[in-house]
Amino acid sequence: MLLCSTVLIDLLPFTQSGIPMIRKVKLKPSLKLIALFFTFPAFMTACSNAKTVSAKPTSKELYLISHPSKPTITKINTLIPHAMTWYNNVEKTLYSKGRPLTNSEKKMAKVLGVRNPGAVRVVILDKFPEPNNKTVNNHFEGARAMGNIIMIKPRHKKDSIVLCHELVHVAQKDRMGLKKFLTRYALEREVLGYSRSLLENEAYARQQAIQ
Ligand SMILES: [Zn+2]
Repeated sequence: MLLCSTVLIDLLPFTQSGIPMIRKVKLKPSLKLIALFFTFPAFMTACSNAKTVSAKPTSKELYLISHPSKPTITKINTLIPHAMTWYNNVEKTLYSKGRPLTNSEKKMAKVLGVRNPGAVRVVILDKFPEPNNKTVNNHFEGARAMGNIIMIKPRHKKDSIVLCHELVHVAQKDRMGLKKFLTRYALEREVLGYSRSLLENEAYARQQAIQ
């Protein structure tokens, strides 16, 4: 079973210290970038190989996801354009370094709902890119999907369950569109946290299909 990384991802996204800095205080451009860096991880679908217990969302939590507060909408709307640009840049940079899916992987991708399995690229990387053009070796993060790019740490490169999990995230992006997917993912992370996120739980549930 998998667990997306809870280190970089859960430490700082949408913290009380990060977002209000962007919303309420005029920052120098360099400080804005630092603030954005600390909030960006909420848009990452990074995964590794453990699984926490997840309780189903309460009706109140579901309401908060479908009716987000104004401050939440404001902060997500502030970050989404940057997140989309970052995703696109990562795709452009890593596309030529990745391998296409094999025929059997393409079949699996189709079953999972990936619209264009031929466009997916799998990149084996020791260090995954971070928003401010840095790379960070977060040991707990085993894999991550960004657009059609699936990054996998070397220790998981032969793990079809990890690939399956990330393909579900690609399929989620395909069915919702990147902007809606990132918005929804960030909202679920904000309200439910990583391990109870519905999009993550869908990925965990569907990866079981090949186990
Ligand atoms: Zn995931």
